Amino acid sequence: MDKKFSIKQFNERFPDNAACLEEIKQLRFGDNLVCPKCTKNNKFYRVAGRSAYACSFCGYHIYPLKGSIFDHSSTELKLWFYAIYLMAQTRAGISAKQLERELGVTYKTAWRMFNHIRQLMSSDTNLLTGSVEVDEAYFHPDTQKRTTAKAHNSQVVFGMVERKGRAVVKHVKSSGVRVLSKEIARGIDNKATIYSDTHRSYKHLKKAGYIHLTINHSQQEYVAGDRHTQNVENLWSNIKRGITGVYRHVDPKYLQAYVDEYAFRYSNRHRQPKYMFDLILANIARD
Ligand SMILES: [Zn+2]
Repeated sequence: MDKKFSIKQFNERFPDNAACLEEIKQLRFGDNLVCPKCTKNNKFYRVAGRSAYACSFCGYHIYPLKGSIFDHSSTELKLWFYAIYLMAQTRAGISAKQLERELGVTYKTAWRMFNHIRQLMSSDTNLLTGSVEVDEAYFHPDTQKRTTAKAHNSQVVFGMVERKGRAVVKHVKSSGVRVLSKEIARGIDNKATIYSDTHRSYKHLKKAGYIHLTINHSQQEYVAGDRHTQNVENLWSNIKRGITGVYRHVDPKYLQAYVDEYAFRYSNRHRQPKYMFDLILANIARD
């Protein structure tokens, strides 16, 4: 399979709305769709003028878009697909403003599409395993910059990064021990080795059954053999660059969606755009 995904290839694969609808039908129902009404037939034909297919035996209609982000949207399907294409093409992500320009829609429409597509950019929910680095970071909603310590009004995000693997980032209420313990228990396999700094909220990890290795940042210690948190630090740099470069402003209520997108991009950082595109699309069928 070709790794690149040019706009020409995109247009060949999805020449029109009908091709996009067919793709969603395939993703949601597969090849072996059997009519839910007559239960015998598996031949369906497209109903003209509607986003539906009909059973060729009893006439029962199926609606591939039902319950999806495309349902009841006045934006045509091909434009949705093109928006997904654009969001899958870039490593760093694009803003709703860029979508507005590229798609020629209103900012309101672009923003809505942007948020819907971003919801499809979420990683699998399997526990992180092996060597996992954890760290908390503070983002100030006014300056939009990462702060080094907890300042007034700061938003706390908690990152868990598998070495050479996936990332999970959570917007959390605080960096308190109970909050972070809950996230670690939910996110990391209990046979994993966890690397962190000496923040007090991680002190109980050995008791909780994890192998826990620390690095003492306050003593200017950053790397000691494999004791480091450089991967999660790199993720924070990416997120910070994104906030200042692409997004400019992140409302705290969208912070989780924002960091989810970054975790998704990080987890799939070695993937080609075509794979990303299909992964996002496949998540439509998952919901
Ligand atoms: Zn039927």
